[in-house]
Amino acid sequence: MLRTPTRKLDLISPKTSRGRAYDPWDHADQLGIPVVVRRLRSAHGLWMPEYGQILISDRLRVGQQRLVLSHEIGHGVLMHPDDRPKHEKQADQFAAQNLICPDELADLYGWASDERKIVAELGVTTRLFRAYVLSQAA
Ligand SMILES: [Zn+2]
Repeated sequence: MLRTPTRKLDLISPKTSRGRAYDPWDHADQLGIPVVVRRLRSAHGLWMPEYGQILISDRLRVGQQRLVLSHEIGHGVLMHPDDRPKHEKQADQFAAQNLICPDELADLYGWASDERKIVAELGVTTRLFRAYVLSQAA
């Protein structure tokens, strides 16, 4: 497949599906960010700014890897040099905006009574869901 060089603007609005159809593996590939799955001492995932590479723990289940990778891509796209709290928040918001489809969420608000149900239906974590809500309010 032909790959055109990505500019900064393209990175922020990726040409990938949002919500459940979002595939961070595909997204990382589009961005040209190598992802290595391997044993990690304690982290679930790591963005290595000096190598422009993402490491994902091989101990995670596939669904967890998807969420962790979505977050690490945020660090990569935003070119974070470290993991200070502000950057963690930004990476969560980036991940949440890809993992959560606004239409799907609007639908859920119609019938799901509490946050726990919404989070479960979206297939994300409470932390990511809250990051999404905050990013929408900003
Ligand atoms: Zn992080």
